[in-house]
Amino acid sequence: MSLAQKRKSKRVDCATVCPEWGCRQPGEHEGIWVVGEVEGGAISEPSLQMLTPARMVANKLGTFVEGVLLGGDEGALRAAASEMIKRGADRATVIAGRELSEYAPPAFAGAIAALAAERRPDVILLSATMRGREIAPYVASLLRAGITADCTQFDVDEDSGDLFMIRPPFAAIMLAYIKTPTRRPQIATARPNVFPVPPRDEARDGPVEVRPASSYVRAPPGMRLLRSEALRRDEVPLEKAEYVVAGGRGVGTKEGFAALEELARTLGGVVAGSRRAVDLGLVPHERQVGQTGKSVRPKLYIAVGISGAAQHVMGIREAGTVVAINIDRDAPIFRSADYGIVADWRDVIPALIREISARRTSPGKGT
Ligand SMILES: Cc1cc2nc3c(=O)[nH]c(=O)nc-3n(C[C@H](O)[C@H](O)[C@H](O)COP(=O)(O)OP(=O)(O)OC[C@H]3O[C@@H](n4cnc5c(N)ncnc54)[C@H](O)[C@@H]3O)c2cc1C
Repeated sequence: MSLAQKRKSKRVDCATVCPEWGCRQPGEHEGIWVVGEVEGGAISEPSLQMLTPARMVANKLGTFVEGVLLGGDEGALRAAASEMIKRGADRATVIAGRELSEYAPPAFAGAIAALAAERRPDVILLSATMRGREIAPYVASLLRAGITADCTQFDVDEDSGDLFMIRPPFAAIMLAYIKTPTRRPQIATARPNVFPVPPRDEARDGPVEVRPASSYVRAPPGMRLLRSEALRRDEVPLEKAEYVVAGGRGVGTKEGFAALEELARTLGGVVAGSRRAVDLGLVPHERQVGQTGKSVRPKLYIAVGISGAAQHVMGIREAGTVVAINIDRDAPIFRSADYGIVADWRDVIPALIREISARRTSPGKGT
């Protein structure tokens, strides 16, 4: 029996699993949705990244990938839908209208859940951006489905066709394979930068269906946006930085982080930190790297005074070259580093700043 046939024939005893749950069999659900976020009129990079696992899972299951986009500006949403198709989706649905012109979690989640109740997708994937983290559990709760947050991999159970949502459990270095065999849709998030953006295929085309928001937003959101503030334009988001200088408890003080700032500026990069550095108030939480912070993929990651706990290292798996500076030669960070410097950062950082600045002003010396 093929995987598709196995999925169709799969039956659960609804009354036993959940008496209040309308009897909808897993086999009645079809398609992998990726919820796309539109920012400043364009589809966000983290949303495009989610098309990578979506395509892989859809190919294994022999089903389709659908982009789902919500907002007030139909033109921008259509353009974003077309971009999702060129990057691997087979089709897209846009829910557009005044009711969704301002972001409000109940309205956005309610519209996704209403569309999902109507269309019955097998899987809904969202990027774990601030917005995705807010909406995904809301949708899961409205659909009485499960949710697995912060997945780092996805796969398909060859026997049942269930989605394996794979993630490290808290504080451990093993991987948990999670599935929700009796509930649909299967809902999961993955952090930005865990998956690459799929390549663009100019020739790809597919249908884009537009639905009015008024049919899907059932109630006023019960909240109002009073003010929104954009990130400073000169501030490179951590997820996009090519050079990251991250400090840990070993850097110890604000003055120490000022030295890291200077090195980051010299490189044209940004400063980040470990959770201990965040807890000590040395770096803001949005700059935390790791399991409960962000995943980064810079060309160069310099870890200064960071021990290299599994929860930290998880955030730098996609980094290019990793350089670690630590006084303890046995620090675990050296196992994740391409280059290790066993020394006090106070000696190394000023020397690096001097050397890089000298090479920048005398290009003949190379960089
Ligand atoms: C559920 C859970 C989630 C977590 N999520 C995250 C996360 O997202 N990100 C994260 O980072 N952590 C996370 N942690 C915490 C993590 O386990 C570690 O406690 C934390 O990463 C340690 O931070 P650190 O390396 O800065 O500090 P420490 O472990 O205290 O290491 C400090 C290092 O600095 C070195 N050092 C000291 N002085 C100097 C000097 N002068 N020069 C050079 N080196 C020096 C020391 O040798 C040491 O290796 C999480 C923990 C849990 C339980």
